[in-house]
Amino acid sequence: MSFFEKLAEKIRRWIIFAKENPQILYTIFLLVVIPIAFLVSGNNFLQAALKNQERAEKERIGTMHDVFVEFAKDRMNDPSFLRARIDSIAKQNNSIEQFRVVSYDNGRETIIASLKDNEIGQEDIENKEYYQSTALHLGSSLIFKESVGGVRHWKAVRAIVGDNNNPIGFIMSDISMANVDALSARNIRNAYYILGVIILLILFLLVRNARIVDYTVLYRKLEEVDKMKDDFVSMAAHELRTPLTVISGYADLLNGIQNLSEKDRENISRIQVSAKDLGELITDILDVARIQQGKMSLSPERIDAKVLLSSIADSFVEPARAKGLALRTDIPAQLPEVNADMKRMRQVLVNIIGNSVKYTKTGEVLVRAYEEGNSLVVRVSDTGIGISAENQKQLFQKFYRVKSKETEDIRGTGLGLWITGQIIQNMGGKISVESISGKGTDFIISFPVCKDQVGK
Ligand code: ADP
Repeated sequence: MSFFEKLAEKIRRWIIFAKENPQILYTIFLLVVIPIAFLVSGNNFLQAALKNQERAEKERIGTMHDVFVEFAKDRMNDPSFLRARIDSIAKQNNSIEQFRVVSYDNGRETIIASLKDNEIGQEDIENKEYYQSTALHLGSSLIFKESVGGVRHWKAVRAIVGDNNNPIGFIMSDISMANVDALSARNIRNAYYILGVIILLILFLLVRNARIVDYTVLYRKLEEVDKMKDDFVSMAAHELRTPLTVISGYADLLNGIQNLSEKDRENISRIQVSAKDLGELITDILDVARIQQGKMSLSPERIDAKVLLSSIADSFVEPARAKGLALRTDIPAQLPEVNADMKRMRQVLVNIIGNSVKYTKTGEVLVRAYEEGNSLVVRVSDTGIGISAENQKQLFQKFYRVKSKETEDIRGTGLGLWITGQIIQNMGGKISVESISGKGTDFIISFPVCKDQVGK
C-alpha cells in the first residue's frame, strides 16, 4: 500500500468513526472552534482598543507640544520659566519620564531645561538622530518608539521654530507606555479567565451531553425492545385464537348433548364464560397493538345511528334485567346519519353501555342520543358506583382500573376505555365523563355527522 493509499484509508476510517459518533464532531466543534473564535474576536477587539488608545495618546502629546512650543520660542533664554512649565506638565502626567528643551545652534543641541537638573548645559547626543529627523518636519511632533528595559517608550520630538522659519531648538518628551501596556495586559488576562470559564462550561455541557447521547441510545434500544414486545404479544394473541376457537367449539358441542347432569352443564358454562373472557382479552390486546403501531384502519361509511344504537341497546336489555337493572333508551326517530366505521362505532358503544351495566348494582342505565352542532351525541347514564374526580383523570390510560371495594369482584383489564378513547379520537369524535362517586356516571360521546346532514 502506498503512502497516499494508507492516508486515504485512514481518512476514510475517521469519516466512518465521526459518522457513527457525531458527538465527537460536536465535542471538537465546541472545544476547538468556539475558543478559537473567541480568541480571534477578542484579539481583534483588543488591537482596535489599543490602536484607539495610542491615537488618543498621540493627539494628547501633539496638543501638549503645540502649546509648549508656542511660548517656548520666546522664552529660550529663560530656562527657569521653561523648567517651571516642564514641572507642571510632569505633575499632571505621570507617564512622562523625561522632558527636555534643547537649543539648536551650529548643529549642536544643548539641553537648556529638563526634569533632571544635572543634564543642563550638556549636549543631547543621545537624541541627535531624532532631532535631525524632526528638523525636516517642522510643523508637527514626531514619535520614535523605543524599548527600555522591556517597557515601551515613545520619544516625541517637536521643533521650536524661530522667526526666520528655522529650528532654534527642540522639545523632547519621553513617555512611558507602561500604563497602557499594563491595561491591555489586564484585559488580555481577563479575556483568558473568561475563556477558561467558557471552556469549563463547555466541558460541563459535554458531560451532560454525553449522558443525553447515552439516554438517546438507551431510548432507541427501549423502543426496539418495546416493538419486539408488541410484535411478540400480537403474534402470541393470534396463536391463542386457534386453540380458543377449538375450546369454545367443543364446549358448545358438549352443551348440545342431551341428558347432561346439572353439574356438567354448570361446568360447561364455566368453560364457555372463560373462553369468552379470554377471547375478549385477546381482541383487546390485538387492538392495543394495532393502535400503537398505527395499523388500525378505519372505513368510514354513512351510518343510521338510530338503528345501530337501538340494536346495541336491545342487546343489553337481557343482561341488565338479569342484574335487576332497567335499561331505558331515549333515541329520537329523527337522527342525522354519522360518518364512522360501523364495526368500531359498535365496539365503542358496546364498551360504554357494557361498562354502565357492569358497574351498576341497582337502578338503571339510560341511553340517550341527540344532535348538537355538527355532532351526534350519545349520553350513557347509569346509577352505578360512580368514579371519583381523582380517578376520572386517569380513566383513559392503558390498564387503568379503579381499585375499590366495589370493583374488586368485577373482572376487567383496564384496556376498554383506552381503546375506546383512541378509536373515537381517530374517528374525529370526542369522549368525556361526568360522575359522582356512589351516585352514578355519564359517558358522553360525540361522532361527526355526515356533512349533508348538518342541521337537517
Ligand atoms: P375494565 O372495565 O376492563 O376494567 P375499562 O377500560 O373499560 O376497563 O374501564 C376502566 C375502569 O373505569 C374500570 O375498571 C372501572 O373502574 C371504571 N369504569 C368504567 N366505566 C364505569 C362506569 N360506568 N361506572 C363506574 N366505573 C366505571
